[in-house]
Amino acid sequence: MNGDNLPPLREVIASHGLAAKKSLGQNFLLDLNLTRKIARAAEISGRTVYEVGPGPGGLTRALLLEGAARVIAVERDARCLPALVDIAAAWPGKLEVIAADALELDESQILPPGTAIAANLPYNVGTALLIKWLSSESWPPRWSSLTLMFQREVAERIIAKPGGEHYGRLSVLAGWRTRAKILFDVNRNAFVPPPSVTSSIVRLTPLAAPLAPAALKDLESVTAAAFGQRRKMLRQSLKKLGGEALLEKAGIDPTARAEELTIVQFAALARALSA
Ligand code: SAM
Repeated sequence: MNGDNLPPLREVIASHGLAAKKSLGQNFLLDLNLTRKIARAAEISGRTVYEVGPGPGGLTRALLLEGAARVIAVERDARCLPALVDIAAAWPGKLEVIAADALELDESQILPPGTAIAANLPYNVGTALLIKWLSSESWPPRWSSLTLMFQREVAERIIAKPGGEHYGRLSVLAGWRTRAKILFDVNRNAFVPPPSVTSSIVRLTPLAAPLAPAALKDLESVTAAAFGQRRKMLRQSLKKLGGEALLEKAGIDPTARAEELTIVQFAALARALSA
């Protein structure tokens, strides 16, 4: 038995009364061709997959159809649970559903090492989880890849390189520990209801070791200060952290601005801060 016999998602939504709730950022994907494309992009065949926010289960079904060994799905909207129970019944032993807020879950208790993470999440939750996943104490992390849906503009911030308007704290954190790539865009009309902007699928794979040595908390301190006043020269924006002396210790031009620094230079600043 496999999930091919499940009813179309439109029927699932109607029969379980899953009208999308704005407060939970619900924009559902109903086209199984699209969710299967996302599942293939996540390269999950034979792996355990952690899916956050399965909703009525469009991506969940695609992950199972594309060969996930097992899916662990976390959903905070209890209305969606019966629809997910139907999927679990169609795929015996392969889907485990956890009713919880993913932001509060201690994943180290749930995820076996090597788990692939895949999600179509509301933008604010997605960014908060991305930061949580990138801020793992130890590196490489437990997860083998992240395949996530974001608003196009957020996706551009994640992959941005120095010199552009999108380059910021998220780009430094993501680029320091992962290789991040936009795989493809998803038109707003693919969602029910459609969000206001285009979305993109981003895939992040962890580097074996961060791009340059630094303590995460010091890297966060320097990027927060530098990008908090991104139009100012670093000697001004980093004043509270040591200003010119700190920049000199790191070998960085004090008249440079945040968006001109490479990730390796931010790591040098973080090391200078902890020295
Ligand atoms: N994955 C489904 C799809 O692609 O059609 C649903 C996507 S919808 C954009 C986001 C889903 O995440 C909703 O089902 C919502 O209830 C759930 N969600 C929102 N915040 C969450 C959180 N903090 N923890 C777990 N699930 C959450």
